[in-house]
Amino acid sequence: MRRIPGVVELIEQYRRGDLDPVEHVYRILEAIGKWEPLVNAYISLESIDVMVGMAEEAAARYRRGEARRLEGILVAVKDNISTSFLPTTAGSRMLDGYIPPYNATVVDRLLAEGAIIVGKTNLDEFAMGSTTELSAFFPTRNPWDPGRVPGGSSGGSGAVLAYGGADVALGSDTGGSVRLPATYTATVGLKPTYGLVSRYGLIPYGNSLEQISPMARSVRDAALILDVIAGHDPLDAASLKVSKVNVSEAKPLEPGVVDICIFPSLLEGAEGPIRSTFNSVVDKLSSEGACIVEEELKTAKYSLPVYYTIAFAEAASNLARYDGVLYPSKGYSGVWEEYVAEARGKGFGLEVKRRILMGVYALSEGYREEYYLAAAKARRLIRDEIDKLTRRCILALPASPILPPRLGERVGDPLKLYLMDVYTVLANLAGVPALVQPAGFYDGLPIGIQWMAGKLEEEKLVSLGLLVEDVTGLSGVVAG
Ligand code: GLN
Repeated sequence: MRRIPGVVELIEQYRRGDLDPVEHVYRILEAIGKWEPLVNAYISLESIDVMVGMAEEAAARYRRGEARRLEGILVAVKDNISTSFLPTTAGSRMLDGYIPPYNATVVDRLLAEGAIIVGKTNLDEFAMGSTTELSAFFPTRNPWDPGRVPGGSSGGSGAVLAYGGADVALGSDTGGSVRLPATYTATVGLKPTYGLVSRYGLIPYGNSLEQISPMARSVRDAALILDVIAGHDPLDAASLKVSKVNVSEAKPLEPGVVDICIFPSLLEGAEGPIRSTFNSVVDKLSSEGACIVEEELKTAKYSLPVYYTIAFAEAASNLARYDGVLYPSKGYSGVWEEYVAEARGKGFGLEVKRRILMGVYALSEGYREEYYLAAAKARRLIRDEIDKLTRRCILALPASPILPPRLGERVGDPLKLYLMDVYTVLANLAGVPALVQPAGFYDGLPIGIQWMAGKLEEEKLVSLGLLVEDVTGLSGVVAG
C-alpha cells in the first residue's frame, strides 16, 4: 500500500511551483503504462500531445495566478458519459466507434475548471452489472488483487484510481455502480441526491434511479468534484433547481452531533470480514463519542426485487432506441426488419438482452399490475421508511455483503450478481445521497463502509466521511 497526494495537495504543490502539471501528466502516464497491461481499466486514452498541451496551459495559468478550481487535475471518465473528443461506447458493441456530437454537461463543467480528461474507463455493458466483467470488450481487474474484480459497473474508474492512473474519476450509480467499485478498490464513491447532478449526456440505463457520481481517493476530493459538477442544468428535466453546491469545505463532524443508525438484522447476510470491519469502524466512532442507535429497516427485504423490476423496465425502454440506424453499429446490412434484428442481436450482450426481455415482460399487458406497478408501490414504502429514518440519523451499512469476487466467480449466475447490490440499491430507490469510503482490509482486500443521509444532505455525509478518515487513517491509498 502506498499513499499519493490528493487534489487539494496537488493544487497546493502547483501553486507553490513544487510540481509542474506537465510533469504530473507524465507521472500519471507512467502509472498507466505500468498497470494497464494487467488491469485493463481504460477503454480509450486522450493523446499525450493534447494532455501535455493542456498541462502547459495549466502551468501558465498558475504562473499568472489565474488557476481555476481543477487546473491541471487529471480526471478519468466512465465510458457511458458523452465526450465529443473521445469515443463513448458504454461498454457495448452497439456503440463501438460512436463519437457523440456533444459533451455531457458534467464533462463541460470539469473542462471549464481546468481539468484534463485522461481517458474513458471500462464498465459493464450499458452500466448493467456489478463486476465490470460484462463489458463487451474485456474485463477489468482489481489492482489490489488482479485475480479479483474491481466491482461494477464503474469498475474501470475504481481500478484506475486504485493504481494511480488519474487523480479523480466520474462514474454513474443506478443501483450502486460507484459504491461497489469504491468498496472493492479502497476508494471513495459519492452518489448524490437524485437530480443534483445533470445527466445530460449520460447514456441512460434506469432514469428514475441514476446519478453521475464522483469517485476519488479521499472524501475531500470527491466533495470537490461534486461541487464542480452539481447544480441545475436546464438540459436535464430531472435536474433540481439548486444553483450552487459547496460541500468541499465541510469540516469533520463533531462526534455526537448526529446519531448513527445501524441495522444488525441486515448485517446477518454479510461475510464475516465485512461484518467485523463494519463493527470496528462503528465501535471506533462510538468511542469517539458518536451516538449509535440500533434500528430496523423493515422494507429492505423488498429492495432487490423492486430495484431490478424497475431498472429492467426502464432499461427496456431506454435500449429501444438502438436500432442500428440512429446509433449506428458497424457493418450490418439487409432489409429493415432484418437489419434491426441483426443489429440488436449482434450489438447487445447476453445480460443486456436478458434485461430487455424481463423489462418488457414486467411492463406488458396482463403483467404490468403484478410486476411493474407492484414494484412502484413497494418503492414508495421503501422511500418513506428511509425518509423517516434519515430525518433522525445517518444510516450506516456495509457497501457489499461480500469481499471482491474472483473473476468468473459470480458473473455466470445472474442472481448471485444481483445479490451483490443488496446494500446499495436502497439509496437509489429512495433518491437519497450515499457515500462509500475505505474502512479496512482483510487479507489485503479492501472493505468499505456506507453512509446514507436525507435528500440534499451531502454536506453531512462529507463531514462524517472526514471524521471517519481521521479515525481509520484510510485516505489517498493506492495498490502496489
Ligand atoms: N449492479 C446494478 C445493476 O446491474 C447497478 C448498476 C449501476 O448502478 N449502474 O443494475
